Amino acid sequence: MTAQSGFISIQNVVKFFGRFQAITDVSMEIGKGEFFSLLGASGCGKTTLLRMLAGFEGTTTGEIYIDGQPMSAVPPHERPVNMVFQSYAIFPHLNVRDNIGYGLRKLKLPKDQRQAMIEEMLALIKLPGYGDRKANELSGGQRQRIALARALILKPKVLLLDEPLGALDKQLREQMQLELRALQRKIGITFVFVTHDQEEALTLSDRIAVMSAGKVLQVDTPAGLYERPKSREVASFIGNMNFFNGTVRRNGAATGAIETEGLGTIPVPVDMLTKPDGAAVQVALRPEKFVMSDNQPTQGQLAIPGTLNTSAYLGERSHHYIKIAGKDDPVAVSTPNAASSIGRQAGNGQIWLSFNPASIVILDPD
Ligand code: ATP
Repeated sequence: MTAQSGFISIQNVVKFFGRFQAITDVSMEIGKGEFFSLLGASGCGKTTLLRMLAGFEGTTTGEIYIDGQPMSAVPPHERPVNMVFQSYAIFPHLNVRDNIGYGLRKLKLPKDQRQAMIEEMLALIKLPGYGDRKANELSGGQRQRIALARALILKPKVLLLDEPLGALDKQLREQMQLELRALQRKIGITFVFVTHDQEEALTLSDRIAVMSAGKVLQVDTPAGLYERPKSREVASFIGNMNFFNGTVRRNGAATGAIETEGLGTIPVPVDMLTKPDGAAVQVALRPEKFVMSDNQPTQGQLAIPGTLNTSAYLGERSHHYIKIAGKDDPVAVSTPNAASSIGRQAGNGQIWLSFNPASIVILDPD
């Protein structure tokens, strides 16, 4: 976590809509200056949680603190937050300057101070000189930047963003992701960002809360979620993952192993084993952690013979499906397209898979 921990503190928050429970006992801390994302499939409760931070929805039970203050009795306009929506909600009949300065009107600031703040925002969003343009003469990306500037000009402590890039096409969206990240770094405001797009969350965030059915499954850094998922649900939600049934074998004080269906017996340090001898576990291994070779690797007992079912060439990488003994589903393997792998065809016969035992993740069984 960056900077001060618990700048936003969500404590045992539950939300019912009538009899429907949208949020089930969520607790987490968001640090000051963090770019924090809520990631999950449609309907998992991301927007509800964001709206509770904004004050547009109350909590049924539990409390939200921002900068040490409990928020339940604080109405939305008095909270130190501002929100940016997917539909930019900018006023088409106003020009860019008036759109950005809209929220300043009630502050009764002198005109030249207002203008200076607006110019500062135009520079920040890289649209200097656009002040007189009508909002409906702007591209989608430019409109989204205006919406950001309008939210930021009031210098909120927290910016809440609800799928703000969702309406943009892929290329513009990727460009805006980089801009948004750079902007957040520059101004240092805490961002809470809602998305269902895992790549977007991984690209942008310091930390991510993965949500499902109103619950937070895991809060971690992008690398932590990818390399050390704590459950099968998180492991399969972020990227692709192969799963193998396994049984713990504790051989002694210093050595241990997992006997698997498909990958043989994998030696693991005992401190990675949290279960007793004989316990059922799942071994998870990412497709790119395998090395695929035509000949049996000379060293290591962890070389698994297999038959190539299909390959798909994807430019930078190829994806392969390999049938191995002891496992019904083919194993997904991803290899970088070095010259040697180009032209590999299905039906080439036997290949070998090997992997480093340190790259496995040990999970509870289903
Ligand atoms: P999406 O990505 O589709 O926006 P989400 O994860 O943001 O999904 P929410 O909008 O938070 O999901 O909704 C969570 C659940 O709560 C959904 O099942 C939704 O139908 C329900 N819900 C949300 N708002 C209300 C409401 N005002 N009344 C009743 N049910 C609601």
